[in-house]
Amino acid sequence: MERLIIISNRLPVSVTKKDGKLRFHPSAGGLATGVQPLLENTYKGLWVGWPGIPKEKISVIEKNEIISELKEKSYCPVFLSQSAVDNYYSGFSNRTIWPLFHYFTQYAVFEKSAWSAYRRVNKQFFNVVSEIVESGDTVWIHDYHLMLLPRMLREKFPDLTIGFFLHIPFPSFEVFRLLPWRSEILEGLLGADLIGFHIYDYARHFLSSLRNRLGYEHSFGQVLVGNRYVKVDAFPMGIDYERYAGARGNSLVQKEIRKTRKKIIHKKIILSVDRLDYTKGILHRLRSFDLFLEKHTEYKEKVTLILVAVPSRTRVEHYKQLKKDVDESVGRLNGKHGTLGWMPVVYLYGSLPFHALTALYILSDVALVTPVRDGMNLIAKEYIAAKTDGKGVLILSEMAGAAAELSESIIVNPNNIESVSESIYKALKMPEFEQKKRNKTMQDRLRRYNVEKWADDFIKNLAQIKEDEQILLSRKITPKIRKSIISDYIKSKKRLILLDYDGTLRDFEKNPQDAIPDRKILRLLIKLSDDPKNDVLIISGRDKYILETWFKSFNLGLIAEHGVWVKEKGGAWELIGPLVNYWKDEIRPILEKYMDRTPGSFIEEKDYSLVWHFRKSNPELASNRARELKEAILHFTSNLGISVLEGNKVIEIKNAEVNKGNAALKWISRGHYDFILAAGDDRTDEDIFTVLPGKACSFKVGMPPSKARYIVESVMEFRTFMNQLLEK
Ligand code: UDP
Repeated sequence: MERLIIISNRLPVSVTKKDGKLRFHPSAGGLATGVQPLLENTYKGLWVGWPGIPKEKISVIEKNEIISELKEKSYCPVFLSQSAVDNYYSGFSNRTIWPLFHYFTQYAVFEKSAWSAYRRVNKQFFNVVSEIVESGDTVWIHDYHLMLLPRMLREKFPDLTIGFFLHIPFPSFEVFRLLPWRSEILEGLLGADLIGFHIYDYARHFLSSLRNRLGYEHSFGQVLVGNRYVKVDAFPMGIDYERYAGARGNSLVQKEIRKTRKKIIHKKIILSVDRLDYTKGILHRLRSFDLFLEKHTEYKEKVTLILVAVPSRTRVEHYKQLKKDVDESVGRLNGKHGTLGWMPVVYLYGSLPFHALTALYILSDVALVTPVRDGMNLIAKEYIAAKTDGKGVLILSEMAGAAAELSESIIVNPNNIESVSESIYKALKMPEFEQKKRNKTMQDRLRRYNVEKWADDFIKNLAQIKEDEQILLSRKITPKIRKSIISDYIKSKKRLILLDYDGTLRDFEKNPQDAIPDRKILRLLIKLSDDPKNDVLIISGRDKYILETWFKSFNLGLIAEHGVWVKEKGGAWELIGPLVNYWKDEIRPILEKYMDRTPGSFIEEKDYSLVWHFRKSNPELASNRARELKEAILHFTSNLGISVLEGNKVIEIKNAEVNKGNAALKWISRGHYDFILAAGDDRTDEDIFTVLPGKACSFKVGMPPSKARYIVESVMEFRTFMNQLLEK
């Protein structure tokens, strides 16, 4: 059975020490519920995390007791010192990443010592995982405390299957870039095969940060990192639906309902439940309720807001201040509107057990879930699930990830106090049939994509990525394939070798300024072309003047401008066919407009094509402009007989019938070759692969998709292969 190792900051158990004795408190959160079936049915599970007790508080004997007690549950503890917890958890995680990723930039502190602690603790997790991980394992890392771990593991275990899920928002690049260690965080995450977010917007922000900060482009969420693909996608975390939907039948819950009803008689109940966190918008919510009572005096003594605030991160100063502010606000509001027999806000500071919380879900007429920023918000989902009689209205902030799935709720902007206050009124007035209709749709959705499905979906996607990687591996040049190609090469009597230049023979990414062929390339080409059995062709997008300068003394055929010009070895340049140029006058002004609006870009004019280069421009801007430009030129393509080609950071406009494949046909169609080899790296080379006969040996330098038979990772790998071919 394969193993799945879950890694999170906390284990699903908390260890405390009371009267000198260790106690173990299980704390099965949503994540544990979600992965449980996977751990029971599909995988042999292991869970790595901090058990919640600082190292200093336990003796060596107690440490061993914890290890052996947890081992029975397949939990593997990472022991952290108090100062590590202070600096890594309360420090970097909750004073830097948490506020920054929730757009509370003013609360975010950037301290080098906290960052160092974060790195150290990630390394500590790495050390523990390194001890237990085996090749073939799947590792699933959770949340913002461990963003450096994927890369650490990837470096030591290149073949490991690694998933990462972020449970909080990923902010827009403009906010993320404030972090002094932004590149390290991105690179840390890129160690994973699959990076999951709750909603598409967070995935989009992450991809945009990758592009802006590290220059990585993506295609449908796939990012090429070295020789691996990393997939970025959205997986909205669900809840244990049946647990909440079944709560009504639970006798403890019923007892709780009766108890609360006795205390709050004949009043509409509005419910508000959160950890006491500044991201939850509790103060905004109280202001909205205050305004509601001011405006709708008919609801005096007829409505109660139950405000549950769960203590959280009490060591962090902003949380202490928030507690004070909420206490005062509740006091003020009750003082202002309350009467002898009526307290508008019933304030509970503490954490409720399942039966008490679900009793409140069932009892309340309205749930007011209005965070100013929230990765997902499970309260909103649990509330809807618990409403099995269909009655109840959810007012939900558009800043919560859950809003993407719960669009039938009343969606509000929590900063718009007037609108939230009016939404309360609307919710209290909503006809029952409408409540039921809205809730039914949301319930169906939540039932389907529950937390089990979420975990299963993530892990299946992760497995799929590894499978795709295997398919890719099958197109790599193994020693056996190499031997067979070399043997065919030796046996053959007449050979055609078709080679693209930039990105295939020459690694222009590394040094775009210096594209001139180096000594090693020249030596390779001389060796190839000196063999009388070989016809060697360089097929390039470059103009004929450059190719002429570089290769004039060689015994090579040349194809320039993606197939506009062809030159037999020893011959003169010929135009591929009767081409026209007049379209340039129409297209040039459009390109110039884009050049002016995209700093760093420039236009190259070739004999029969125009090229817009944007390698040096802001990648985000250039990519948008490139899309716009393609769109703009598309209108002209049929009229003018031109085609638009997107290459690596270039857009080329040329005569429609010109392409590298058509030009290469001049040679291929002679039919007397018994060995054909072709290599290229971008879209324009696919036209060559298309026209090759079935037996030909083709190489894509880079990653698929490609029609080439074989995939080589880099220019270096391809050149090494070619040299091996010639050694024989
Ligand atoms: N919760 C609880 N008791 C409480 C309040 C909340 O058990 O008194 C649970 C609730 O059921 C939910 C979780 O805490 O599953 C809160 O998750 P959410 O995503 O809403 O917020 P977070 O605390 O993760 O920011």
